[in-house]
Amino acid sequence: MSSVPASADVGVIGAGIVGLATARALRQRGATVTVYERGVPGAGQSGGESRVFRHAHDDPRLVAAARDSRTIWDTWADELGIETVSPDGALTIGPDVDAKLALLRDVDGIGAREVDADELAQLLPLLGPFDGPAFLDPRGGSIRTTATIEALAAELATTLVHDEVLQVRQVSGGRAEVRTGGRTVVHDHVVVCAGRGTPAIARSVGIELPVKQSTHVRYTFEPAGRPPSRAACLQDGSGVFGETGIYAAPGPDHATYAVGLSDTAGVRDDGTIIDGDALADLAARAARYVARALPGLRADPVGVRHCWVTELPWSSDGVAAWSQPGLTLVAGHNLFKLAPWLGGLLAANALGDGLDERLQPESRLGAAPEGQG
Ligand SMILES: Cc1cc2nc3c(=O)[nH]c(=O)nc-3n(C[C@H](O)[C@H](O)[C@H](O)COP(=O)(O)OP(=O)(O)OC[C@H]3O[C@@H](n4cnc5c(N)ncnc54)[C@H](O)[C@@H]3O)c2cc1C
Repeated sequence: MSSVPASADVGVIGAGIVGLATARALRQRGATVTVYERGVPGAGQSGGESRVFRHAHDDPRLVAAARDSRTIWDTWADELGIETVSPDGALTIGPDVDAKLALLRDVDGIGAREVDADELAQLLPLLGPFDGPAFLDPRGGSIRTTATIEALAAELATTLVHDEVLQVRQVSGGRAEVRTGGRTVVHDHVVVCAGRGTPAIARSVGIELPVKQSTHVRYTFEPAGRPPSRAACLQDGSGVFGETGIYAAPGPDHATYAVGLSDTAGVRDDGTIIDGDALADLAARAARYVARALPGLRADPVGVRHCWVTELPWSSDGVAAWSQPGLTLVAGHNLFKLAPWLGGLLAANALGDGLDERLQPESRLGAAPEGQG
């Protein structure tokens, strides 16, 4: 427990969903907050409409964390006056349904259950016939990413400094100094939530983060006819439609449906893409999948999202934080759903409560327990 004053002055680097969630939690605890953002809030890895909120993870600790984060998403909806997660639910189909369902049933408050082919067709009428193993995560749904980012950025507008952070330096008194294009500021604590920018800032304070960078693409499609009244999110590991790592989520009013493969395209350490055709191949595979699996959608995509991915070595759902005097740095992937929960823990560490044991790198949060997954 370090002696951070109650009215601490905390700097947050990055106005993506994790930085905004951390800044909100800090303000709710009475801290003075400055959020540094070199671009537009929410235009980095948090960009684009809709994300899947799911409870299913290989690590039971992350299942419980997702359950707790889901509760905070509801609180945000009340406090921000917006829908944060749609009531559509999240479907999982494929051979690992039983194993995932067993993990979900071990955690209270999720209520996941098996569904048969008829109910599956009602929950996701866009999907072609499928009579294999399937379950519904009723508290899952599509995260309203754009509305959430806009509401948080508006609520935190006075804290935002649109400037690039070139360096963070630890200074005396357990505090940290931020140097941007136009200023030098010393804060009681700095939380680095800079997504793809975090490893470089970490390296400048002598910390090598085990982050593997890659690139990813997701296509958005429109319904062939009238938007359905219900369109659950989908995780398809079945292979029945030619792919085993599919995720998909509806946009507002079910007017769009975004579909991506969990595969990514490799990147060299200098950030250059290794195989120039990889993203195009991934996009083409997603379009072929939609033509086979989702006859309720028009075959031609109406939107695309390309992005950087920052994964930890122990799981594509891995997340961890590095804590030093005056400094906290966070890294991981698939963080949108966890951001309300994660932001609270990062704020707690910045205010001297100590870093939650689950976020310690050696805890490898997100990794399947030994002998499983
Ligand atoms: C297509 C796609 C699908 C996804 N699907 C899901 C899903 O279904 N469920 C899920 O939970 N997650 C999903 N994710 C992952 C999730 O979106 C990310 O993990 C999350 O948005 C990361 O948020 P962040 O705040 O850490 O990073 P970012 O949103 O990248 O924010 C970091 C911010 O820091 C700023 N920054 C960086 N360096 C500096 C600097 N030096 N100075 C000032 N500012 C700086 C950047 O401009 C950026 O705005 C998906 C991601 C993509 C792209």
